[in-house]
Amino acid sequence: MAKKTIDQVDVASKRVLTRVDFNVPIDDEGKITDDRRIRQALPTIKSVIERRGKLILMSHLGRPEGKGFEPEHSLKPVAARLAELLPGVKVMFPGNDCVGPEAASAISAMNDREIVVLENLRFHKQEKTGDGLFAAKLANYGDIYCNDAFGTAHRNDASMLAVPLAMKGKPRVAGLLLQKELKYLSEAINNAKPPFVAVLGGAKVSDKLGAIRNLMSKVDTILVGGAMAYTFLKALGQEVGSSLVEARMVNEANAILAAAAASRTDLVLPQDHVCGKQISQYTPVEVHEGNIPYGWMGLDIGPKTSSQFGTILAGAKTVIWNGPMGVFETQPFDVGTKQVAQAIARATKKGAMSVVGGGETAAAVEAFGMAEQFSHVSTGGGASLEMLEGKAFDSIAVLDDA
Ligand code: ADP
Ligand code: MG
Repeated sequence: MAKKTIDQVDVASKRVLTRVDFNVPIDDEGKITDDRRIRQALPTIKSVIERRGKLILMSHLGRPEGKGFEPEHSLKPVAARLAELLPGVKVMFPGNDCVGPEAASAISAMNDREIVVLENLRFHKQEKTGDGLFAAKLANYGDIYCNDAFGTAHRNDASMLAVPLAMKGKPRVAGLLLQKELKYLSEAINNAKPPFVAVLGGAKVSDKLGAIRNLMSKVDTILVGGAMAYTFLKALGQEVGSSLVEARMVNEANAILAAAAASRTDLVLPQDHVCGKQISQYTPVEVHEGNIPYGWMGLDIGPKTSSQFGTILAGAKTVIWNGPMGVFETQPFDVGTKQVAQAIARATKKGAMSVVGGGETAAAVEAFGMAEQFSHVSTGGGASLEMLEGKAFDSIAVLDDA
């Protein structure tokens, strides 16, 4: 069911309490090294400010202990960056406690078109435990609740669930980023145009098991690459050298292969591999077809696999991609991931709908400078994977229906 969005409620002179995901990487000098998550929240922020609302932003950052203020986990640099991105808008950052007296008095003194950024929610352990009393204090700040934190949507933290529950009777809406994520992820999965191809890779079968099982009944083809392919190949009795294998997942891999064989979904494993002796740019490199000899690790899909995947992707009308095809962080093992990215980008150009999810996968397409060439690159690693698993999120269910 579609959710009501922030642009569908009157915000003039109202306090809009908005949960964002400002969990950005910050280096030792306190510098933000990637401000994408701040920029992606701008449509919601501007929508409220341009319509004369009062905006209160709350987020977590990193993993503080939950026992009070920690300077290295302060959202202060984030508030400063936001102010730079919004020239002419007053951005305040009151005190070092999101429910402290400075925060409360700054909020009560706010004018229209102003922004208060609250300090890191996770300085209180009650954020993670979903504590009702803590949530009630936050809920008091708002006339309207808005959730724009897709990256945290799979977690029932206080600001995600107990706060909107405490604001029952007031408007509780989705922000524009959250709406965009839901639109692409849920509609791509549930109303996909065939042929529908899922590309799954990355480190572990165990991480992607739920997604494989859920997608099996929905997609025409699953292309498997990355380290997880080796658990499947091992299950098929192939030699995989010293490639990463999850020994305890071999039986499960067999069950998935059997399920795929019995279904209309094709599950395609790599036929050749770019191998090294270890994960290093200085390792000797050999391409092996089929069996991988003793002492060699499969670190990327090989050229034949890459071109086979490319041919299948060329005919796709819907593509979901989660998980890199190899150790893309280390050359020359980035080639398979890059070629798959290019194949999906070409299909997108021809009209296919493409969604890229997963933290490392999104980082890879960003590093290739290709993020604009897909229909959507998800901002939520864990959340997008759980959507591929077909899970419903309480934090979204609680929001008003459109
Ligand atoms: P995502 O975050 O996109 O969901 P994962 O976290 O599942 O992706 O996996 C990403 C990691 O998998 C990358 O760091 C990459 O180096 C690693 N990886 C991919 N292929 C291999 C491989 N063949 N051997 C070892 N590691 C691999
Ligand atoms: Mg990851």
